[in-house]
Amino acid sequence: MKRHDVIIIGGGPAGATLAHYLKEKGIDNVIIEKGMPFRDKVCAGGLPLNIENILPSNLKSFERNSYTKIFADYKGIHSLLADLKSSFLYGVMRAKFDQFLREGTNVHYGEKFIKYEEDNDGITVYTDKTKYSGKFLVGADGVGSFVSIQSGLAKNKRFIVAEEKEVQEEAKDKSILNVFLGYNFLGYGWTFPKEGFISSGSGALKGHFIKGTVNKFDRGITPIKVFPISLWNVAEPLAKERVALVGEAGNLVDPFTAAGIYPSILSSMLLSEVIVKNLKLETVNLEQYNELLEDKLYDEFRYARTLSNIFYPFLPLINRVILREEFINYLLELAQEGYISYKKIFKRVESTRRIPVKIAYALVKIFIR
Ligand SMILES: Cc1cc2nc3c(=O)[nH]c(=O)nc-3n(C[C@H](O)[C@H](O)[C@H](O)COP(=O)(O)OP(=O)(O)OC[C@H]3O[C@@H](n4cnc5c(N)ncnc54)[C@H](O)[C@@H]3O)c2cc1C
Repeated sequence: MKRHDVIIIGGGPAGATLAHYLKEKGIDNVIIEKGMPFRDKVCAGGLPLNIENILPSNLKSFERNSYTKIFADYKGIHSLLADLKSSFLYGVMRAKFDQFLREGTNVHYGEKFIKYEEDNDGITVYTDKTKYSGKFLVGADGVGSFVSIQSGLAKNKRFIVAEEKEVQEEAKDKSILNVFLGYNFLGYGWTFPKEGFISSGSGALKGHFIKGTVNKFDRGITPIKVFPISLWNVAEPLAKERVALVGEAGNLVDPFTAAGIYPSILSSMLLSEVIVKNLKLETVNLEQYNELLEDKLYDEFRYARTLSNIFYPFLPLINRVILREEFINYLLELAQEGYISYKKIFKRVESTRRIPVKIAYALVKIFIR
């Protein structure tokens, strides 16, 4: 049995980019992936512009669609179209994007992780086909991660449920991203046009999700696929000595937008630094990764969670304030910087003079924060 430096479970964006980051540093690794090449993933495929800053150097030129306009609608009652004239978000087809990310990595497809054992010498991983030995184990196995369950890391789960349909159709204007508010409680809907496809969907906090909500704003008859998303909720350790979690396995999903691709790749970049250091110093402690996450991700996630607690429940009250050209343009300008900083939005919400927003914000501070 060959001994690997790092065994990665899952070849989604988190696992695939981790493999590249490790390979760049000459670190031997293997990905165990239960799916096959071009595995489909239920996902809208929206990516912030600064994804390019965190992708491994050989993966920056991926196939994408760029959005320059946004159509935002509240229950069909009022809406607006904003045109920024330059990109604020990318859209990708996940099956293609993930396959691109996996190119050049050592993936064992069609093999399912079952369990692992740990002793002083390392890790033994058991799959449905064989077993592997390694120094470190990384769970990049997404929502419902077996590695998370077995390691006891990232126990605190908060789910939303989302649905999506991909219609094989060319959109009239591929530069328009559509957002639908108020059609579901504690959630939102979208339509993302891409090359030859339009992907539409909706999602809401578990318990509020109603399948078929997407049909209210997209009447296409394509079958709907439903999938859970594990949102970030609290800061908790994602690493111990030899085991760590990256991406959605560690609940690293933006609690406001439910976007998980950027945090997946960022977490893999951060973990790769810690693994490299450990192998160089011949140490066995990945815990420094927890500190890096706190520094680079959790602060923004805390603001995102609070904003989500204001935004979704109080939408009936604040929708007219949100769907104003000035505010939407402000958000899009932030997005053009590469990524919407929640800290910045929060500061703006705090300083508003608008009475409904002030009331919503005060209530949130009393009851929710
Ligand atoms: C409807 C919907 C829309 C979304 N839209 C967006 C969006 O627009 N933008 C965005 O950023 N995020 C979006 N997300 C979230 C995003 O899809 C995930 O957060 C992201 O894919 C997480 O990446 P990951 O690599 O951590 O996990 P995944 O992409 O889930 O990859 C995990 C991999 O592990 C493999 N695996 C799982 N268990 C095992 C096992 N036991 N053995 C071997 N392999 C295993 C799986 O086959 C999979 O390939 C959306 C999600 C949904 C459901």
